Amino acid sequence: AAGRTVHPDDTIIKVNDISIGTGTFTVIAGPCSVETSEQITRVARSIKTSGAVILRGGAFKPRTSPYAFQGLGKEGLDFLESAKAAVNIPIISEVMNQTQLPMFENVDIIQIGARNMQNFDLLKEVGKLKKPILLKRGLCNTIEEFLMSAEYIMASGNENVILCERGIRTFETATRNTLDLGAVALLKEKTHLPVLVDPSHAVGIRSLVPPLAKAALAVGADGIMIEVHNDPAKALCDGAQSLDLKQFDDLMVEIKKRVVLE
Ligand code: PEP
Ligand code: MN
Repeated sequence: AAGRTVHPDDTIIKVNDISIGTGTFTVIAGPCSVETSEQITRVARSIKTSGAVILRGGAFKPRTSPYAFQGLGKEGLDFLESAKAAVNIPIISEVMNQTQLPMFENVDIIQIGARNMQNFDLLKEVGKLKKPILLKRGLCNTIEEFLMSAEYIMASGNENVILCERGIRTFETATRNTLDLGAVALLKEKTHLPVLVDPSHAVGIRSLVPPLAKAALAVGADGIMIEVHNDPAKALCDGAQSLDLKQFDDLMVEIKKRVVLE
């Protein structure tokens, strides 16, 4: 179970030689969407050099509009896997439904997006796997509901759950969402599972990503997931909140002054 009362010690999630949840700070970075093989490999190389330890890249994208770029699908996963092999870095990508799961065999961490946080059938299916699952908080879900969704995965047999606070809907519209840092602190008390923060989707504005990333570190998160693109102005998805390679490197310099990276 996810609660500290039954399981007081922090859960440590192992991905190759990386341990998430050990008191170190895990940085995941990469583009919102995989666009081309060259793009994802180039970003992978750069973010690894900067100190990120896991590469993100969406292949199946949950877009608000059906006319927006939907991701490259299977081909996107193939490009992501070739970047993994070329750069030697583990990868994370979002699964949108259970029929896609067989395609995720070589993906190291499976992401359940905010919009699927309460897709209970999908949670039960990923609960049958052994691989780490990164569960993002729903746009309008309470902390209790978030933890119950983690519980669904764990009750089905998979204890390797990483929580990710990614901002919630509030009355405020000046930022894309409102980063709930109080939730991060509360989750660290209530659960032994690792808690990451995604400042990119939380705030939606590039210049505000570094300060919120540092806030996540200060509040006790186990790491962050940051959107990084080689050319944000031309990104097919979420360019406005994506750091370029240099901006990400600058952020990592700031973070490295403050922590031990893992
Ligand atoms: C993402 O991380 O690619 C994503 C779609 O985020 P969220 O599910 O938090 O909106
Ligand atoms: Mn995105």
